[in-house]
Amino acid sequence: MTFKELGLAEPILKALEAEGYTHPTPIQEQSIPILLKGKDLLGVAQTGTGKTAAFGIPILHQLYEGISLSQTKRKVKALVVTPTRELAIQIGESFTAYGKYTGLRNTVIFGGVKQGKQVNALRSGVDILIATPGRLLDLMNQGFISFRDLEHVVLDEADQMLDMGFIHDIKKIIAKLPAKRQSLFFSATMPKDIVELSRKMLGDFERVTIKPEQATAEKVEQGVYFVSKANKPKLLIHLINEKPENTLIVFSRTKHGANKIVKKLDQAGIRSAAIHGNKSQTARQKALGSFKDGSLKVLVATDIAARGIDVEDLSLVVNYDLPNVSETYVHRIGRTGRANASGIAISFCDKEERAYLRDIEKLIKQPVPRMPEHQFTDENGEEEKDDRPARTPRGPGKSGNKNKNRPGGNNFRGKNNRNTSRPKKRNDSSRSE
Ligand code: AMP
Repeated sequence: MTFKELGLAEPILKALEAEGYTHPTPIQEQSIPILLKGKDLLGVAQTGTGKTAAFGIPILHQLYEGISLSQTKRKVKALVVTPTRELAIQIGESFTAYGKYTGLRNTVIFGGVKQGKQVNALRSGVDILIATPGRLLDLMNQGFISFRDLEHVVLDEADQMLDMGFIHDIKKIIAKLPAKRQSLFFSATMPKDIVELSRKMLGDFERVTIKPEQATAEKVEQGVYFVSKANKPKLLIHLINEKPENTLIVFSRTKHGANKIVKKLDQAGIRSAAIHGNKSQTARQKALGSFKDGSLKVLVATDIAARGIDVEDLSLVVNYDLPNVSETYVHRIGRTGRANASGIAISFCDKEERAYLRDIEKLIKQPVPRMPEHQFTDENGEEEKDDRPARTPRGPGKSGNKNKNRPGGNNFRGKNNRNTSRPKKRNDSSRSE
């Protein structure tokens, strides 16, 4: 299947070619025909699957083909609501890239900055609006946004919006949209509240599911070190120094933890920057900018802040803390192995995190291969043995010479798992933003 076979307008095909996209990803192949028929869509998929283009391309196509530009030009005809500033900016960049030959204009609005520039952009007229919920509602209430001409609405990362407490804002926003519209609803997971919300929002819809294990386990090589809390900084420093050319994102469960990691790295002479909810928008954009242009090699992030980070050539994801919500693991390792590339994700697991690891393995339906013992793995972090049969790790992956980037060599091996009691649930960092 090619993009041409999907029947897309010439200017969009030209832009996709310029982006270097040759073939649609599975979610694009499945969603685009549904959306071009004008149907609603429930997409169960995470970032990293090509989700943005899966909704962006058919919206651009329909706007380009359908509108008499002279009449409705520069009126908001498509709205994308997404949880974080980073994700909003990135979606805006995607619309700009895929739509650059269509003459359609988009703008991005988000909180944490003054509203003046955003209001000016809205006043000068836009066809596609990408927004985070709080600022969107705020500007709607101030009368700066009209949805009279709205034809398409996308709710992106719905589960994350729920986690971040945006559900009421979302309901208020949906209530103000015209009833006759095409609705798209994307979520990585489908807990009960999200199912309910999707029912409220969608009309006659079709569902496309890209399973997390399809999106991650297939493409991302994974490994776990058993290491004590105290040795985690040393292990991280060692891994970074082993391959200084690597670009990596280090995930921390909390903002405070992220700052501490940056400090430890700094003491070891390694430059890094943290991005999380306590950092100003400017600081976050600056850190992300230097990371994307390669001048900064190590980014330390909390889960929410990292949503939507899309960096080409990301060598490695390090889970410095294992997340207590297994789906978060899938999101994290999805930062590497984007679209059709392969990637590597290494996790540090201390004694208290064993139960999280087991939950993750259950979700991804495969064991995370154990990394070889190491000078910084120790008794405290070492996985204890029991007499259950050993599970076979997946090994170094299906194809190609993927070992060249792997820290700690390629000596993956299996170990037994022991039933430890579940650690107390900690606050998910997603709530701490
Ligand atoms: P997303 O899931 O939308 O965040 O997309 C993940 C990454 O895949 C982004 O870097 C996109 O530019 C890239 N991408 C999306 N669709 C394709 C495609 N058909 N071919 C190659 N790369 C793609």
